Order: sequence, then structure tokens, then C-alpha cells
Amino acid sequence: AKKAGRGRFAWFDASMERELQARTRIETGLRTAIPAGQIVPYYEQQVDLSTGRLIGFEVLARWEHPTDGIIEPDTFIPVAEECGLIGDLSMSVMRQAFEQARGWDPSLSLSCNVSPAQLRDPWLAQKILKLLTETGFPPSRLEIELTESALFENLGLAQATVGSLKNQGIRIALDDFGTGYSSLAHLRALPFDRIKIDKSFVLSMVDNQESAAIVDAIARLGDSLNLPITAEGVETSGIEERLRALGLRKGQGWLFGKPMPVAAARTLLAERALI
Ligand code: C2E
Ligand code: CA
Ligand code: CA
Ligand code: CA
Repeated sequence: AKKAGRGRFAWFDASMERELQARTRIETGLRTAIPAGQIVPYYEQQVDLSTGRLIGFEVLARWEHPTDGIIEPDTFIPVAEECGLIGDLSMSVMRQAFEQARGWDPSLSLSCNVSPAQLRDPWLAQKILKLLTETGFPPSRLEIELTESALFENLGLAQATVGSLKNQGIRIALDDFGTGYSSLAHLRALPFDRIKIDKSFVLSMVDNQESAAIVDAIARLGDSLNLPITAEGVETSGIEERLRALGLRKGQGWLFGKPMPVAAARTLLAERALI
């Protein structure tokens, strides 16, 4: 038993060490990738479900790695958050997106993600406003997506940051609504302009009663609080029809398109005379 125990520990140590090495490799990579502009914005279409019209894009980071190809954010965002690089990373992605999208049709908005860790920075609002001034991207076309956790760790600071952003005409969305990180109490604490329903509920709503009931409940809540809702994870026309039947107006997901690099976004916009 003693031997087996030691064996298990040895195995556990080895796997932990591999994990640690992988994280260290990502961290070291990020330190040069961010200033080198290798972390770039991809654009995911957001669509008006009642008309099918394109209304904007969610901006999603991708790492264009010189040897490993395109790396998805789930691999590097958590590392960037832990080693204090998330502020520089998100700001770099936002700056590129503002520069790329400033000449696009003024009806098109951008939704940008801000991490809980970034909300601990008392200068966050000023940094975002400075980026807007420097790039000439209009604040009225920007929506910032916030997830909970840090919002309520320091509610006073979060309220001040959200207040400064909203004063300049920037809209604020509560992201991942319905997951463990966002809940009802949070809706009252901050003046959100929109709720985003997490894809985990939307993806399963056609064949899972509970998911359908949750999406339905969130739709009613949005109605009664006068908060518009965006649904993530619209993968099929079946899902789209269900959302439309619930009165939801805005969606994004594979049905409309996967996140794409700026060149593909420009081609799409040119075809629709939006550029
Ligand atoms: P999120 O904000 O919840 O973003 C939505 C995620 O759902 C994206 O994954 C998007 O590609 C995916 N998605 C949207 N529609 C569908 C669909 O129909 N089916 C499926 N299967 N997936 C769909 P992605 O791009 O991998 O991003 C993961 C997370 O990384 C994001 O979750 C966001 O929290 C974070 N993130 C991405 N870019 C940035 C950034 O620049 N800064 C910060 N702070 N976080 C970022
Ligand atoms: Ca992904
Ligand atoms: Ca988001
Ligand atoms: Ca989500």
C-alpha cells in the first residue's frame, strides 16, 4: 500500500510538473506575443433575430502563434489573468479592433470582453476612454462585457468604473448570465444595459426541458426589467426559432458564423455594402 501510495504521488507530481511547464511556456510566450501584436481580434457576428440584419461583432482574442498556429483563448486567457498580463492583452486586442472597425458602417457595434481581474485596476475606465480618443472609435458603438466575480469583490470600484464608462456613452453587458458567476442580485447592483445568456443553456434548449425553462425565465426577466438580451450559442435554425418565439432580439453563434479574422470580416462587410 505504501508503495502504491508513493507511486500515485510520483505520478501526480509528474503530471503537475507537466502542467506547470505548459503554463510557464504560455506565460513566457505571452510576454513577447502581446507587444509583438500576435494576439489579434477575431470577429463573431451578432445578428438581429427578427430581421436577420448584422448589428455588430463580439471581439474575441486569438493568438496567431508563429509555429503553433491559431491558439484559442481558453488556453491563454486564464494564464494571462494569473500572471498579470490580462490588462495589456485585452487593451492590445481592443486597440486593434477600434483601429480596424472605426471606418465600418456606423450602425455596427463592437462588444469587447473585460476580465474580472481588469476591474481591480482603478484606471481601467480612463485607459479605455484614452484608447477610444486615440483611435477615433465612437464610444456609442462600444459595449463592454463584464462577468461577475470581481464586480462584487469591490463593488464601489466597479460602480465607479461602470459609471465613468456609461457617462461617455459606452454600454455595459452582464456576460455569462445564468452560470455560477452571474446571478440575480448582481442585476440590481450595477446599471447594466444588456444581459448575455451563456451558450450552455442555449445550445441545449431544443432537447433539454430545464435549459429551455431557464432561457424562458431569463427572457421574461429581461422583459420585466427592461433589459435587452443577447443569446450566445445559436448553432441551428431550430434554436434560432425557439429564441425568436421567446421574443429574444439578438443572437450570435455558428448558425451565423464562427469568429473570423479581420480580412474575412472586411470581405463580408464589403459584400453587404457596410464598409
Ligand atoms: P465568452 O465571452 O463567453 O465568449 C463566447 C464564446 O462562445 C466564444 O469562445 C465564442 O467563440 C463561443 N461561441 C459563440 N457562439 C457559439 C456557438 O454557437 N457554439 C459554440 N460551440 N461556441 C460559440 P472563445 O472565442 O473561445 O472565447 C472564450 C472566452 O475567452 C470568452 O468567453 C471570453 O471570456 C474570453 N475572451 C476572449 N477574448 C478575450 C479578450 O480579448 N479579453 C478578455 N478579457 N477575455 C477574452
Ligand atoms: Ca473556443
Ligand atoms: Ca463575452
Ligand atoms: Ca459565455
